[in-house]
Amino acid sequence: MNRSPRAPGLPPVLVALAALVALAAATLVVGAVLEGRAGPVRDAVRAVTTATALGGLDEGAPGEADGRIGDREVTIDDDVPAVTRLDPELRAAVREASRAAEAEGIEVHLTSGWRSEAYQQSLLDEAVATYGSREEASRWVASPATSAHVTGDAVDVGPTDAAYWFAEHGARLGLCQVYGNEIWHYELRATTDGTCPPPLPDGAAAG
Ligand SMILES: [Zn+2]
Repeated sequence: MNRSPRAPGLPPVLVALAALVALAAATLVVGAVLEGRAGPVRDAVRAVTTATALGGLDEGAPGEADGRIGDREVTIDDDVPAVTRLDPELRAAVREASRAAEAEGIEVHLTSGWRSEAYQQSLLDEAVATYGSREEASRWVASPATSAHVTGDAVDVGPTDAAYWFAEHGARLGLCQVYGNEIWHYELRATTDGTCPPPLPDGAAAG
C-alpha cells in the first residue's frame, strides 16, 4: 500500500496556538478601532453590550414605560409610569400612608405599582421558569388578565418595616394586605369602617 507522505507542517498543537494568537490579535485590533473612533458603530456595540449585561437583547423587553422600577428608589411622589398610572384613589391613599409612616421615621418605597400587560407577562414567564410550573408560579405572580397591578389597583411597598407599617395601619386608609404570603402587596379593599377582608393564602387562591 502506497501511503501518501504526510504533508509537512506545524504540529497540530502549534497550529491551534497560532490560531488563538491570531484571534486575540484580531480582537485587539477591533477593540482599538472601536475605542479610537467615536461614532455610531462604537455606540451600537456599547448598547448591545449593555443590553446583554442587563439581561436581554430583546428590544421589546419591558422598561420604565411598562412600569418597571428596577433598583431605583421610587416613592409615591415620583413621576414614573409605575406611579402615575395607578388608580388616583389608591395613589392618594398610599401617599397619605407614606406621610404617616414617614412621620414615625419609616421610609416607604414602592417596589412595584402599575405594570403593563407585557411586563406582567414577562414576570409570569420568569416565575414559571423559577418555580418550575405555572401552578406554583401563580401563587406569586398573576396573569396579565387578573393582576391588580395591570389595572393600577395594587402597590408593592418596601422595605420590610414599611410593609409591616402598612399591615398594621393601612386599613384606616382603605389599604389591605390581600395575600397572606405577600406582606408587601396592598390594594384598596377596606370597608368604609376600615375593616379589611381576611387575606387569601396566596395569589393562586384568588383564582
Ligand atoms: Zn403586588
